[in-house]
Amino acid sequence: MTTGIVYSPIFLEHKIGTHVESHTRLIAIMDFLKENGVLDDPNFKIIEPRKATIDQIKYVHEESLIKEVKEVSELAEKTGYIQNLDMDTSVSGKTYEASLYSVGGNLEAIDQILNGTIKNAFAAVRPPGHHSNSYKCSGFCIFNNVAIAAEYLFREKNFQRVAIIDWDCHHGNGTQDIFFNGSKSEHGELVMFNSHQDGRTLYPGSGFIGEIGSGKGVGKIINFPMPPRAADDVIEIYFDEIISPLLDEFKPEFILISAGFDTHHTDQLTYMGWTYQAPANYLKKIREKAKEYANDRILITLEGGYQVDKQAKAVYNCLRVLNNEDEKLIEEKPRISEDDLLNYINTKLVPALKEKLTPYWKCF
Ligand SMILES: [Zn+2]
Repeated sequence: MTTGIVYSPIFLEHKIGTHVESHTRLIAIMDFLKENGVLDDPNFKIIEPRKATIDQIKYVHEESLIKEVKEVSELAEKTGYIQNLDMDTSVSGKTYEASLYSVGGNLEAIDQILNGTIKNAFAAVRPPGHHSNSYKCSGFCIFNNVAIAAEYLFREKNFQRVAIIDWDCHHGNGTQDIFFNGSKSEHGELVMFNSHQDGRTLYPGSGFIGEIGSGKGVGKIINFPMPPRAADDVIEIYFDEIISPLLDEFKPEFILISAGFDTHHTDQLTYMGWTYQAPANYLKKIREKAKEYANDRILITLEGGYQVDKQAKAVYNCLRVLNNEDEKLIEEKPRISEDDLLNYINTKLVPALKEKLTPYWKCF
């Protein structure tokens, strides 16, 4: 069985000048995959994206947001100047179209996973999505790719239980906001696991352990704010102590991952301490749960990551793990967290998070 890689040059057309969320991020990824044999390997297949329909975008976004992106894109096209949706979210003449393909690429990957053409997939798409909520585009994001993918599984593929794991260094506040009261569809249960640099030290300033959802979504939003400089060992504690028992209880039928690679210790926007093999090692653990409950179904969607050479290596590593080639990981020198930081995680953060979740889950 093969691993799909969603990619199209249309994603480069969301071209927004010297912005750090640059089209060169994708070029670096694809060049690295080519140089290292992934694109010539029959175990990997390029998935051509399709356009999502407006009705599908409306699964999570208000019509006014869609209209704004379309109109601002048209203005950029007409004037030849990049436009801005907010302080840090820019739009080119092709952003609207690229965004429809970015969502649609994820939906196409889901279709191919479900019809057995591929086993799992990595969507190397832009623009990213996890900061956009139902009514506002923010933080370099346009349409919320992963949230629409989840609703697509509920509404068009009749899935009952979907897990989203967001490992971008910034809190996935848009996705959390969309699903704070549970899935948007009548049926369908969604659980979202966030891990990110502590919001007191990084945009968007949210994602604390008390944010656990409400209504039918109560207890199903889980936030793990990591102190600056946290290394690879911290995410493993989160998985073993929180995610693993919760997934055993929830039994997801599909796992969606919002994958940012801005947790790397050299990333220019953040202050975390991960290596470029850390996401892949985390993914190995997630893969075991997907095997147990979800018939191996994993779709990874690209979010942030601003040290382009390190991001390319991290993506390559994740693809090898998706394809069960753990021996082919490219690794840098391991990094471990300071004792004080680990002590805080083990004696303060993890117990406090469990206490918040205890009323809603039997496993704690
Ligand atoms: Zn990020």
